[in-house]
Amino acid sequence: MFRLLRAMKLLLLPLVLLLTSGYLLTFTAQIPHQLQLFAQWSPVMVMSVMFFLSAFFNQSRLLFTSLIGVLVWAYLSLNLHNVSLNQLVMLFVSLNVLLVVFYRERGSFNRVGLIRLSIIIAQSLILVFLYNLKDKVFLGWIDWPSLMLFDGVIGLPSLAVLILCLSIMFFKLFKSGEMVDGYLLVTVAFSSYLLIVQPEQQIKLSLYCALNQLLLLIALFKHSLTMAYMDELTGLPGRRALNERMVQLGKNYTAAMLDIDFFKKFNDTYGHDVGDQVLRLVASRIGQVQGGTAYRYGGEEFCILFPHTDINKAFESLEKVRISVENSSLTLRSNQRSKDDKKGRSQRGQGGKGQSVSVTISGGVAVALTRECTLKSADKALYKAKDAGRNQICLA
Ligand code: GH3
Ligand code: MG
Ligand code: MG
Repeated sequence: MFRLLRAMKLLLLPLVLLLTSGYLLTFTAQIPHQLQLFAQWSPVMVMSVMFFLSAFFNQSRLLFTSLIGVLVWAYLSLNLHNVSLNQLVMLFVSLNVLLVVFYRERGSFNRVGLIRLSIIIAQSLILVFLYNLKDKVFLGWIDWPSLMLFDGVIGLPSLAVLILCLSIMFFKLFKSGEMVDGYLLVTVAFSSYLLIVQPEQQIKLSLYCALNQLLLLIALFKHSLTMAYMDELTGLPGRRALNERMVQLGKNYTAAMLDIDFFKKFNDTYGHDVGDQVLRLVASRIGQVQGGTAYRYGGEEFCILFPHTDINKAFESLEKVRISVENSSLTLRSNQRSKDDKKGRSQRGQGGKGQSVSVTISGGVAVALTRECTLKSADKALYKAKDAGRNQICLA
């Protein structure tokens, strides 16, 4: 349920942006003469910006989708009214963006990136070649007249492939929760919509396509911002976000420092990979804290800021978090268990069952003084908790 809501939320912003600007565009009845040429070529201009920025921010997936969008624009601008070609372009868009969604990020302007770019361009050249061939038998196989929809613009088979691809993309978004996946899905849906509607007015077509490209540019900026502010492993905001928030809050907050107990020993026993999984689990519990925002301070240490909250109220929330971490456990696969445990289990003849591991956290909480002093004070309280036997929260 949570993943479904997350996926819907990630789709909401690009959808709202697209629909409102698309609606506003319907009012641009007359574009001033001086701007006509600019509007005409706007999709290519946005893509050129994308070319430079994607290399800079290492976001080839957005660049490839932008290129596919521009190719759709070029195709629609030619106004060919060729039903068979429509089907092929629809398949070209759906299948290629589906591939892009599953690409691992390998950069744009290196060997892998250039090969991927060439494959997209080669496919469009093949489409041009097929069109010039004017081979009725070859082009005719793809459209069955009985299965044509939307005034004969698009066929049921290619529409079915599109819907299948969109569903797979939604499933990927559901699983990954990655913001970029949401933008890719919306732009491929919009490109397909343009292929079906085929706007008559060239300026409108160009502006709609440019709008699609702009969405990808927004995704690129949002992704870069996320990278700067979020911690990749835990998904919590990182140190930079914490510092900025503390400056904004002045002295109206309570801060807590949390630290996983005996985590070095845990890593030594189960390995760094299991350690990372537990770190993610603990972060997700800490992230659910009531009345505060959690940050990864570094390593296995977290900080929580409670704006406009007194220390006793913050303490209550922290106790709930501590208990929730204590009660959470991670089930290991058999190859993740510690050596001692494997030996013990095989001796007892019950190696098949999954072993659960868990950790505890200690914490210190302090009211805001000056920026450096607050965290120092919370840290001192944390050490008090460690000295007092761990798995507890202490007040400064
Ligand atoms: P204490 O209860 O006193 O806090 O003991 P501790 O072992 O947790 O403390 P210590 O600071 O000695 O060790 C922290 C360990 O946290 C060291 C390192 O192995 C582990 N750690 C830090 N960051 C990461 C990470 O990103 N992934 C994993 N797997 N381990 C990490
Ligand atoms: Mg530590
Ligand atoms: Mg620790």
